[in-house]
Amino acid sequence: MLTTGAPAHNWAGNVTFGAARVHRPAALDELRKIVAGAARVRALGTGHSFNRVADTDGDLVRVDGLPRRVEIDAERSAVTVGAGLRYAEVAAELHAAGFALANLASLPHISVAGSVATGTHGSGDGRRGLASAVSALELVGPEGDLVTLSRDADPGRFPGAVVSLGALGVVTALTLDVEPAFEVAQWVYNGVPLDTVAERFDEVTGAAYSVSTFTDWHGGLGTVWLKRRTDVDGTGPPGPGWLGGTAADALWHPIPGMPAEFCTEQLGVPGPWHERLPHFRPGFTPSRGEELQSELFLPRAAAPAAFAALREVGAAFAPVLQVSEIRTIAADEQWLSPAYGRDTVAVHFTWIKDTEAVLPVLAAVEERLLPLGARPHWGKLTTAAPATVAARYERLPDFRDLVRELDPAGRFRNDFAAGLLGD
Ligand SMILES: Cc1cc2nc3c(=O)[nH]c(=O)nc-3n(C[C@H](O)[C@H](O)[C@H](O)COP(=O)(O)OP(=O)(O)OC[C@H]3O[C@@H](n4cnc5c(N)ncnc54)[C@H](O)[C@@H]3O)c2cc1C
Repeated sequence: MLTTGAPAHNWAGNVTFGAARVHRPAALDELRKIVAGAARVRALGTGHSFNRVADTDGDLVRVDGLPRRVEIDAERSAVTVGAGLRYAEVAAELHAAGFALANLASLPHISVAGSVATGTHGSGDGRRGLASAVSALELVGPEGDLVTLSRDADPGRFPGAVVSLGALGVVTALTLDVEPAFEVAQWVYNGVPLDTVAERFDEVTGAAYSVSTFTDWHGGLGTVWLKRRTDVDGTGPPGPGWLGGTAADALWHPIPGMPAEFCTEQLGVPGPWHERLPHFRPGFTPSRGEELQSELFLPRAAAPAAFAALREVGAAFAPVLQVSEIRTIAADEQWLSPAYGRDTVAVHFTWIKDTEAVLPVLAAVEERLLPLGARPHWGKLTTAAPATVAARYERLPDFRDLVRELDPAGRFRNDFAAGLLGD
């Protein structure tokens, strides 16, 4: 077991955790002892969240030192993986065995447990968030006890247990739905008028298995990135002047000035699902590295109003914005999923790494989008009060009951969860 003193930082470096110690147990029994012996404890994944959702004033524990698990059950179309594994590791092994996950986020560098705990998502009209693929969880509970929850055995509470914000226990393994491996080809269209994206929104977001539109909001143009599944969407691109844009003839990176080789293969070259669905390649810096992020999830029907509002203020936030991305997510049933109960359009912002300059701008953006029903990403920055966020989740009272049932003394509670739960 490795135990280090604080401080530990998140990936972006804007959060120094308040934990006195960070543990990396090598065995399940060590983890159980740490949890049972701690006054307050929290699991830390790969630390890619931009806020204090993973923070604690007690002990932080990482589960990526536990024995490695990638157990494929071909008959059940399922894989059980160690919670601390990154999607990149899981995906490569799944692909080698002929299997795939339905979707991935923009980067494969993030841990499976941390990603699903915050409702992480990719894009696609028919694609749900990554938590929807989870069919079972193995956890260490507050007394070091072992708990297993599953979609089949616990249909009443399982939808509350996956997007958990780390408040229910330390997840040690997850079982995920898999399907036969597939191939994806990517095309990028630059110079697409934002008016066209807004007017033909269903056509744009429905043009591929997964679609992202990047923009700065004030120039009036966007870049549409299509990820077409070769067995479903066909093998060709939509056509050279599609949407009035220009098909890129070289590799493209969403952030101006960043090396395009950091991105997954484009130009219509088909390849394995896990080497196309994320924007960024493992082994390289995802996005820019020097940045802050926020994201708001709106009912899909609010897309035109959100676009109009953001274009109005786009010039004002241009100095602090690196790029913005628009994605779609299918409705799901996970209680704390930002896409709970509604087909969703997500508007993401990659800001410069300057919290003081970004927060007032973010407040102005949220002032316009929160009235449209926006829910902030659990792992990114927001200026919304916890009570405002809590009120956007109709199953939050049920989640509160689940937390009290599984962690009655609040051993996994941190300020983030306490604010949300109204403690
Ligand atoms: C460059 C970049 C790109 C991103 N792109 C996307 C994107 O495309 N889509 C998207 O939705 N988000 C995206 N994110 C946000 C990211 O997916 C979330 O912050 C996610 O939580 C990261 O996972 P993590 O392992 O780093 O979690 P952490 O930040 O380490 O932890 C997040 C939460 O999970 C809990 N947790 C972690 N491990 C466990 C465990 N074993 N048991 C119980 N709880 C646990 C923690 O306690 C905490 O509450 C991006 C972030 C970055 C930095």
